[in-house]
Amino acid sequence: SAKCSAEKIAVYAGSLDSDNAQRLILMTDLRRAIDGDELFLLFQPKVKIRSRAISGVEALVRWKHPEQGLMSPNQFINFAERAGLITRLTYWVLAAAVRESHVWHGSGQAVPIAINLSSHDLRDPQLMEHVLGSLETWGGSPDWIQFELTESCIMDDLSAAQHVLMQLREAGFKIFIDDFGTGYSSLSYLKRLPVDYIKIDQSFVMGLDEDADSAAIVRSIIELAHSLNIEVVAEGVESKVVMDMLERWGCEEVQGYCISKPISGHDFQSWNRAFV
Ligand code: C2E
Ligand code: CA
Ligand code: CA
Ligand code: CA
Repeated sequence: SAKCSAEKIAVYAGSLDSDNAQRLILMTDLRRAIDGDELFLLFQPKVKIRSRAISGVEALVRWKHPEQGLMSPNQFINFAERAGLITRLTYWVLAAAVRESHVWHGSGQAVPIAINLSSHDLRDPQLMEHVLGSLETWGGSPDWIQFELTESCIMDDLSAAQHVLMQLREAGFKIFIDDFGTGYSSLSYLKRLPVDYIKIDQSFVMGLDEDADSAAIVRSIIELAHSLNIEVVAEGVESKVVMDMLERWGCEEVQGYCISKPISGHDFQSWNRAFV
């Protein structure tokens, strides 16, 4: 009835208002978090599947919100993108990762730190300058930092992606295609990009031992990557069974709870020392 839909509209408008209010609060909060000390990084190791030698870590951002408590990136990265705050967040992550790497170098525990870029970062004309500037601040070099980009972020603007990836590659940085398998059906773009590694999305990896379809997809991704001279990392490896299957199929590296959960920089140093 008319009454009913009028009520619905009223309710909808009300919730929109409070959504907007929520968003405004979150935006102010996130700005403060980036400028202050509410963000921090955790690090998740990646290892060579054969030797179990550590090959690097991935930096994963966390937000310690004073009222909401610990927030995972899934709760605020999309928001940061829409609110125009992702560039500053990426700069924050970059600076924090380089600073951490400097500490690790000081104690002889250094490995490359991979950071996640968003599609907005690919359109940031100052990205390169910023990356090199952050490294210069701490006397670092391009082997300190690596970059992970999702397929969908690349397909958002393929020519922008191509341009930035070429620049990063020429400067000596390694590039990972993240969440591989989820984003795009055509794989021809891979030929046009300077890519060092593919990371197979955890949704294919997790149930590998119990799902023939996942197994088939993972095997063909590995084959495809190798035919293009690209190495493969499987993410979300939670069991020894899955790790053994991946090793048989020629996957080069693994990351997941089976090796380690994301841990603090401090914990990583002792993890690394004990692991090696
Ligand atoms: P991602 O890059 O695919 O990162 C992997 C996510 O899977 C992480 O969640 C990690 O904690 C989780 N994970 C790792 N191993 C396992 C496993 O064996 N089993 C299971 N169930 N999960 C595992 P997290 O830290 O919550 O990050 C979620 C997403 O947020 C990331 O997905 C990434 O896309 C994004 N993200 C994280 N940090 C940043 C950042 O600094 N910048 C940007 N732009 N995005 C970020
Ligand atoms: Ca990633
Ligand atoms: Ca991923
Ligand atoms: Ca993912």
